[in-house]
Amino acid sequence: MALATMHDLMIAELKDIYSAETQLVKALPKMATGATSPSLRKAFEDHLEQTQEQVSRLEQIFELLGQSPRGKKCKGMEGLLEEAGEMLEEEGDDMVRDAGIIAAAQRVEHYEIAAYGSTLAFATLMGHTEIAELLETTLNEEKATDELLSTIAEEEVNVSAPGMEAVEPEDEDSAADTPKKPARGRK
Ligand code: FE
Ligand code: FE
Repeated sequence: MALATMHDLMIAELKDIYSAETQLVKALPKMATGATSPSLRKAFEDHLEQTQEQVSRLEQIFELLGQSPRGKKCKGMEGLLEEAGEMLEEEGDDMVRDAGIIAAAQRVEHYEIAAYGSTLAFATLMGHTEIAELLETTLNEEKATDELLSTIAEEEVNVSAPGMEAVEPEDEDSAADTPKKPARGRK
């Protein structure tokens, strides 16, 4: 499709996002099964439900536009999911693999955040209020998912993975001056 106007670009972007989301619907069950941490598994299961809603939001948008959502393959998502799939196949420590799966999943969320952010800007500028609201709802879900993945990594997965317990402060001199557990109330 030729990109003669910003409207054409918006439709092309929406088709790309639709392809990305439908690919993700197929991949998320595998990511949930491959995760060891119960909270990570639940995050993927919840995001699968959310992603299905996101697909139907896109279908609503295409209905409003009188267009078909089909006709484009999102190669970016294809590549990101290929990498996530490789991570799921890795042998080794379960928590280290979970940390890798989170890193792959956050790449997916960031990609979606970029795609929805641009397309929301186009829709807003062209005065497509209803479409913009639908896109913004999904964009906020993607951001929340990204944050949830960060929290699971920081509070649970990364910290319990082998190799993290031996981390020493980099500057040995200042480390020697600092008590390991400062007394309460000490500045
Ligand atoms: Fe999504
Ligand atoms: Fe997502």
